[in-house]
Amino acid sequence: MMTKPSPAAKPARRLTKAHAEALFAVLAKTRPDPRTELDYANPFTLLVAVVLSAQATDKGVNKATPALFAAADTPQRMADLGEEKIAGFIKTIGLWRAKAKNVAALSRVLIERHGGQVPRDRDALQALPGVGRKTANVVLAEAFGEPTIAVDTHVFRVATRTGLSHGKTPDQVEADLMRITPAPYLRGAHHWLILHGRYVCLARKPKCEACAIVDICGYKAKTLPLQSAKAPAKAAAKRGAPSGANARNKNGSIASSSITRQSRAAPRTKSTRT
Ligand code: SF4
Repeated sequence: MMTKPSPAAKPARRLTKAHAEALFAVLAKTRPDPRTELDYANPFTLLVAVVLSAQATDKGVNKATPALFAAADTPQRMADLGEEKIAGFIKTIGLWRAKAKNVAALSRVLIERHGGQVPRDRDALQALPGVGRKTANVVLAEAFGEPTIAVDTHVFRVATRTGLSHGKTPDQVEADLMRITPAPYLRGAHHWLILHGRYVCLARKPKCEACAIVDICGYKAKTLPLQSAKAPAKAAAKRGAPSGANARNKNGSIASSSITRQSRAAPRTKSTRT
């Protein structure tokens, strides 16, 4: 389920391609080699890990998968293991019954239709049990280096808060991101946005005061205490923030139209994972 923005939250100022270029340049600098935080050894174990991660944390999945993948790291071994035994390995993960069923079934389909290989094809991936567009995008990007952007709850929130997208659904946000993200950043965009959402642009209380893209972000309810806004506007210019990004005034504060006090600004959002 996606994180819903607060009804009171105003739509973010829409970012331009120049803003997007500056935003991703900053995120790329902070994490030059972004990777998924799921542990995996090959495209098949990546696919299984992503299926298991739906509505669960990567950390939780990583606790369960070492034993599962030690027992079965190929479609054949997983199919041989069978649904019951798979379930025994993943009982700590939410929705484990349905996921065990899907992992067993998708392993059989990979053997029967794809020679035991994970297909490098969106339609074929989405035809597998338990695999939706988001999972297919993650596998295409992470295992095969395809320029896709999987939209999970973090990516959805960061994209709509910053103004990279005004989309109302994951598909609309994905389409906006594919349009606005400069080609050199397409492969890393999913990871940069997901990690930014996981560690900085948190659902309930974004850490705007510690955010590297605060001068570019179009969110109109930033949780930045006025007294902490010290960096002069030229710091933003130095980082490449295009004109039109939030300007700081003579006192070092970001324009009051885009900043509210922390007590007012924390958006009431419902945080759930997809
Ligand atoms: S400035 Fe705040 S709302 Fe904007 S991306 Fe950073 S943490 Fe998120």
